[in-house]
Amino acid sequence: MVNVMTWDSKEANTIKEPKVFKNFTYDTDTDGGCLEKFDDIINIMKDIEDDINNICELYKQLEDSYDMFTDYNDKMEKNVSNLNESLRRARMVFKNMLSDMQERVRELQKTDTTLIDDLESIALLIGETQNKITKSPEDKLKEIYPNGAPQTPEEAYKDIVSVDVPITLKDGTKTTTKVNLNKAIAEDVKAALQEAQDAGFKVYEVQGYNWKGDDDNLSAHCYGLAIDINVAENPCVPIEQAGAPNIDWQPHSNEYSIGVDNPLVQAMEKRGWSWGGYWESKKDYMHFSYTNS
Ligand SMILES: [Zn+2]
Repeated sequence: MVNVMTWDSKEANTIKEPKVFKNFTYDTDTDGGCLEKFDDIINIMKDIEDDINNICELYKQLEDSYDMFTDYNDKMEKNVSNLNESLRRARMVFKNMLSDMQERVRELQKTDTTLIDDLESIALLIGETQNKITKSPEDKLKEIYPNGAPQTPEEAYKDIVSVDVPITLKDGTKTTTKVNLNKAIAEDVKAALQEAQDAGFKVYEVQGYNWKGDDDNLSAHCYGLAIDINVAENPCVPIEQAGAPNIDWQPHSNEYSIGVDNPLVQAMEKRGWSWGGYWESKKDYMHFSYTNS
């Protein structure tokens, strides 16, 4: 007797459980002639079983792969969804950034325009100041009087205006006083006196237009192009008395005297004027002139 396995066609359909062969008993004594053929059939069946096992294994692998693919697909879908959300947010952030940048560029453009305007004003001011400082007294006079300087007080008075300039009284009161000046420089004088007052120098007295001097040597006062400040504390003295202890000019001890470091000297020089305290023929400490005379 030998045990052989047989193929169960019913179970062969359920691939997951490939127990398709069953043992049955074969009697060698009664049917010995068929044995060889049975062996062949059994071998073929074994091959088929191997194939089926392989197919089952492949199917399992396929199933696992499918599960993995499904998982992967789910994850991918989630990732794509997250990615889209991130992209949407990034786009929004980027859009806001762009708006901010545009706004900043617009603001910068505004600032830039202001800056350029300021620089142009400064350049103009430097040019004007340079021009005033470097122009000769003759050129300055020619500029104010293109047809020639006035020869009589009546002629000169045509260009004189009365302006209110800031002063500080001796009791400390800040007020204004009227002074007659050439209309070409009146505003400059006013501004310079304001600067000096702001810097703490007390100008209590300002004199302007005054027809004086001789016919050959007219003072700048004749054209309203000179001013005298705090006359009592800033006398006009011969050169040999300059700085003498007995004169009334005492810039270190008298707050009304004008010294070289006085803010009014700086404010006037900046506007093209010169101070009589710098003259070398005499010292006219009260005197400022646009034409150095
Ligand atoms: Zn003078």
